[in-house]
Amino acid sequence: MNTDIISRYEQVQKKIKNACNDCGRAPDEIMLVAVSKTKPDEDVLKLIENGHYHFGENRAKALQDRMESVKNPAAIWHFIGNLQTNKIKYMVERVNWIQSIHKKKALKELEKRASEINRVINVLIQVNISEEDQKSGCDPKQLEGMLKYAQNLKYTKVRGLMGMATFTDDLDVVRPEFKLLRKLRDDHQHLSKGSVDLKHLSMGMTNDLEVAIQEGSTMVRVGTAIFGERN
Ligand SMILES: *Cc1c(COP(=O)(O)O)cnc(C)c1O
Repeated sequence: MNTDIISRYEQVQKKIKNACNDCGRAPDEIMLVAVSKTKPDEDVLKLIENGHYHFGENRAKALQDRMESVKNPAAIWHFIGNLQTNKIKYMVERVNWIQSIHKKKALKELEKRASEINRVINVLIQVNISEEDQKSGCDPKQLEGMLKYAQNLKYTKVRGLMGMATFTDDLDVVRPEFKLLRKLRDDHQHLSKGSVDLKHLSMGMTNDLEVAIQEGSTMVRVGTAIFGERN
């Protein structure tokens, strides 16, 4: 088996396509974000050469370094990790998507920083959908307030929701969590106005992307299956 990065990437694309075919969805509904965390720039550059542009990093410093060293203007950068509000100012000049906003305070800070440089940033609100005690993701009950607040922002565009499933191979645990995220999106759809447009659902990673696609994902964040195991 050829295990170079481009063939792994193509296998992931094929997996997405098959998953879509199996549940009657169009593959172009799914955005693939290649999660390059801890991997060398060389791998990122190979994918860019191959026509892939969406990349995700889960640490603010790593994203900053990556955006600095991979200067290709075609690259589209996603921040997907636990976001500390005080790190927003370091990424605002170049980041395209922040998938992990879970506090009104972060929306406010992002709006302030983005307006200063007249730049529009796409945002997903991260919701806590797993039973695991994790600080990342707002409580579903906070979603309405955050979305109403975001409707009136100008530089911060809320494009959907993001969720992390429980870290397990048990797809019977993961599936209801994805269903919950989709239900939350649908239940809040009436709040799509102004700068809020609840279109995207960012869910699914290497081990559960097929289930996520069956449950309505529009963005999968894939690291290991493309770049290989991390140390
Ligand atoms: C690392 C990471 C991923 C990718 O995980 P893999 O299992 O390697 O595909 C996706 N989302 C987030 C938030 C991550 O931190």
